[in-house]
Amino acid sequence: MEIGEVNLWIAKVIILLASIVMVAIRAPHAKRSHGIPVVRSRKGKLEIVLLTIAWLAFFLPLIWIATPVLSSADYALRPVPLLTGAVCLTLGLWLFHLSHADLGANWSITLDVREKHRLVTRGVYRRVRHPMYTALLLYSVGQALVLPNYVAGLSSGVTTALLVALRIGPEERMMLEEFGKNYQEYMAVTKRLVPAVW
Ligand code: SAH
Repeated sequence: MEIGEVNLWIAKVIILLASIVMVAIRAPHAKRSHGIPVVRSRKGKLEIVLLTIAWLAFFLPLIWIATPVLSSADYALRPVPLLTGAVCLTLGLWLFHLSHADLGANWSITLDVREKHRLVTRGVYRRVRHPMYTALLLYSVGQALVLPNYVAGLSSGVTTALLVALRIGPEERMMLEEFGKNYQEYMAVTKRLVPAVW
């Protein structure tokens, strides 16, 4: 087997593993949140479109692994992006796990306020208000570097950037309506995505 082919196999294994880990981290939270009634929801048309696109973007890498339909957009994979990408994927998944653990029963796939919703300001929420989105962005950078295909490699980055750009505003307005002064004070001492930066 040529070195290029070996890299490609490594990339496929990494992307498959990362997708499985991501689902494994989220599954118990999705199951639990299903059982907690939603008291207020901001799930409008935009949210439905964004969530649908995010699902499609999640499956594109798996389609790239399993079938040749995207092969015309393939390019050669070099070891440095492969390694750097694997590090970003690992860090992204670690932060994804920590933010789910800290948010606990207050997590929702969309913009919902649940029964007994508490404002979380501890753990990874101490310095940034959207660590889960930071995690998804890190994951997307990792996927773009590891997956040598212009379509499947960039799918997560494009949709996550769109989701984050269009959701942070409505999400923060919802939190302000729900938690008022407490969220205002929390906003005053935190950044959105990157500690001390933005
Ligand atoms: N934007 C956050 C959470 C994403 S999950 C992050 O990136 O980490 C989206 C849900 O989380 C929203 O429905 C909202 O109700 C809830 N949420 C967001 N920030 C929260 C916080 N600090 N405390 C409690 N719930 C929060």
